[in-house]
Amino acid sequence: MPRSHDPDPWLVTPLENFPPPAQWDDWTEYDAKSWPRKVEKRYTLVPTTCFNCEAACGLVAYVDRETMLIRKLEGNPHHPGSRGKNCAKGPATLNQIHDPGRILYPLKRVGPRGSGKFERVSWDHVLDVFAAQIRKAIVEDRRTEVMYHVGRPGHDGYMDRVLQTWGVDGHNSHTNVCSAAARLGYTLWSGADRPSPDHENAKFILLLSSHLETGHYFNPHAQRIIDAKMKGAKLCAIDVRLSNTASLSDYWLAPWPGTESFLLLAMAQVLLKERLFDAKFVETWVNWRDFLKAKRPDRAPTFELFVEELTQHYAKYTPAAAAAECGVAEDVIVAVAREIGKAGSAFAAHIWRNAASGNLGGWQVARCLQFLGVLAGAVGTVGGTNLNVQNKFVAPPFMKPPPQDVWNDLLFPEEWPLAHHEMSFLLPHLMLEGRGKLAAYFTRVYNPVWTNPDGLVWEQVLRDETKIELHAALTPTWNETAQYADYVLPMGHGAERHDLMSQETHAAKWISFRQPVLRVLRERLGEKIEWTHETNPGEVWEEDEFWIALSWRIDPDGSLGIRKYYESPYRKGERITIGEYYQWIFENSVPGLPAEAAKHGLAPLEYMRRHGAYLVATDVYEAHQKQLAEQELAGTEIDQATRTVLKAGKPVGVLADGVARTGFTTPSRRLEIYSATMAEWGWPEYALPAYIESHIHRRHLDRDKGQYALVPTFRLPTLIHTRSGNAKWLYELSNSNPVWMHPEDAARLDVETGDLLRVSTRIGYFVNKVWVTEGMRPGVVACSHHLGRWRLFDDIGTDKWASAKVAKLDLGGGRVRFRRVDDIGPFASSDPDSKRVWWTDGGVHQNLTFPVQPDPVSGMHCWHQRVTVEAAHDDDEYGDVEVDTHKSLEVFREWLALARKGPTPGNLRRPLHFARAVRPSAKAYTKG
Ligand code: SF4
Repeated sequence: MPRSHDPDPWLVTPLENFPPPAQWDDWTEYDAKSWPRKVEKRYTLVPTTCFNCEAACGLVAYVDRETMLIRKLEGNPHHPGSRGKNCAKGPATLNQIHDPGRILYPLKRVGPRGSGKFERVSWDHVLDVFAAQIRKAIVEDRRTEVMYHVGRPGHDGYMDRVLQTWGVDGHNSHTNVCSAAARLGYTLWSGADRPSPDHENAKFILLLSSHLETGHYFNPHAQRIIDAKMKGAKLCAIDVRLSNTASLSDYWLAPWPGTESFLLLAMAQVLLKERLFDAKFVETWVNWRDFLKAKRPDRAPTFELFVEELTQHYAKYTPAAAAAECGVAEDVIVAVAREIGKAGSAFAAHIWRNAASGNLGGWQVARCLQFLGVLAGAVGTVGGTNLNVQNKFVAPPFMKPPPQDVWNDLLFPEEWPLAHHEMSFLLPHLMLEGRGKLAAYFTRVYNPVWTNPDGLVWEQVLRDETKIELHAALTPTWNETAQYADYVLPMGHGAERHDLMSQETHAAKWISFRQPVLRVLRERLGEKIEWTHETNPGEVWEEDEFWIALSWRIDPDGSLGIRKYYESPYRKGERITIGEYYQWIFENSVPGLPAEAAKHGLAPLEYMRRHGAYLVATDVYEAHQKQLAEQELAGTEIDQATRTVLKAGKPVGVLADGVARTGFTTPSRRLEIYSATMAEWGWPEYALPAYIESHIHRRHLDRDKGQYALVPTFRLPTLIHTRSGNAKWLYELSNSNPVWMHPEDAARLDVETGDLLRVSTRIGYFVNKVWVTEGMRPGVVACSHHLGRWRLFDDIGTDKWASAKVAKLDLGGGRVRFRRVDDIGPFASSDPDSKRVWWTDGGVHQNLTFPVQPDPVSGMHCWHQRVTVEAAHDDDEYGDVEVDTHKSLEVFREWLALARKGPTPGNLRRPLHFARAVRPSAKAYTKG
């Protein structure tokens, strides 16, 4: 890229990857659209953070100095996670900002719920209505009736603080349709619920599931995996599909879905049998004495006995047995296991979604994967897999409110005491059972009618004003859920809002600042702005300020004890501004930031406004080795026999190499191969990493009857769940989601690519095209869950770039059919590109046809489906979706019966050492 103002920059200056930061205030470059003419454009560059997936990559907005409009968004070279690079979804933020169909003003429903009729109202009116409703619930001590239900949080802890200032137990998430299972598997080992692989320094990388392009941290991980491969690392992908990642791998293993735990245990068996594990690491850091206490109480506990017993325990998982169970060649299993053993502490592994989130017992897949990392001694090491808490930095804000003293059974019902996150997708089912109602319900970046299984039960409850009295959808754009809300409140995209984020993308801790670009620029030019909606399009607001304004109105005189949390730490008694909120954090909570800012002659807030990100730490490895500080050692004793540091009889550290060290945040302070928690809380059969037969195991499938396992969990790298419908570039790239099928299966059904299939689940069916490909395991079909957006109305419901218009037909007896009445096509709007829409498809929705299938331990929805696949019937049409809502409740009750209410040691609702988002007080954990 040429430097600004050079007479002939292509000849006299070297190429740059990015405009030099010193020139961000006034940067000139040729306008690409004017080529071949050389038309100069002057920009001011303002950094922000992408909001299009969880990775929080850095973006830089190019604001045209003439029009004051954002013209493009590119990578931020200052960002430690993304290092100036983005995937296609980052720059597509521009489409979202300029989407002609976006919601620009607060809207209030004027017809019955779901009638599609709304009118514009003021923010003032919205604040009054919700403040009154929430205040009443708090005053009347109905603290479980205010609920905030979030899909993509996009921040670290802001909303947790808001809810705790209100004293409600009302945080709900999307996590158990996403990652709750994997989190439980990791938590049981180490107390930390997410892995953070150090791909960059690994020698062998094992990715389970369709992870990379479809899972967490796509861009930051992808670039580091490629770096590692360039240095000679090998890559193994375990996936039923030949995904993009699998196609670049040294090993592609496609086991029967649901048998992944078996496959991983077979690798563990090879490591044990061939003594390829790190004995010193395991002896020091694994709670093998607890294993022996449970398994061989008759023998003196020695490490040698443990190795012997462990080897014997897993002896049945031979590569030959795994080959038979999983359908993966024996020699490949052995080869991968040996690669792991060879890589040792430089073995990096990751699982998120897919196998963990698809199967009954999927949480054990994550646990078995981490078993390999533990045996390899690759926990927290250079090139190994770190704990997320080591690679993430959450900066605390001023004045922390106390935890709420209340427990919400709609979030954590007693049937799932070990559920890793809220039982969010069961909310309507639990409400239909009469377990509670909501006075005020906020959905934010959350579209459960479309995203969750059994969406029609969601629709039923969202329409019911006795169950949900007041519902606001906080969203920048229409979606299938927002149309049932009482209020639709437009909130900003990634370049229109403040948030502070950190993600465990690699071996470092960093923070990234999302900011409203036009506000920042106009303030820099000297304008006084009170609220971000003054500079955003229309009256699009940002949540941070909405919650400040709402909380202030809930407690205007401070009598509820809420107002004080929203008073400025700089101006006594006055309402805090959003700038002050982050100013305080950057001045007080981020180590090293004030000094770094000072080097640039900037205040910390201004530094973050100009750089957008800050690297907090790189010394992140092996935190478990940290020595216990003197004050932590006070009152402790060392049990020499078990090499454990005890305080009041409880482990608080580990004696390693003669030094008292912190260890892990498990009850034993060690990595727990044996989980006493599982045994004590009613699941003794799963005290160890184990194989659980999935609900879609092939034993349950009759291929002669056309039964298959459907894997619906993979994402497309170019789309964002339900949030990319407003990004025309992304839909131009990806606009269909055919059913992947192996040629052998296609031959059995006598279908070819493009033919229509009917795919039937237990509660309904969908009709989609088939894509015949050898990149699919025979006997299994797969369909990306990203596509198939639908709208019932012309102008509301979902963006026209992405959605077909459908008619919803009531067939009687609880059966409902959606049928397309209009394909996607050109439409008139302020964007000339809308007349150029050439794609017609938009894909087929499948989640409506899935019943809820809550795992009895982790609470995770088990996404994979047992389906019957056949050629479409004569009266079937592409895109048809039919659901039997009566049957769906039957299936819910079947899965509910698998859960176990007790025992609950100590009369607790949940183990105290298990994480909970927005954690209540210890008192609230106790039943009674
Ligand atoms: S991976 Fe892509 S969508 Fe996700 S934050 Fe980075 S640029 Fe945005």
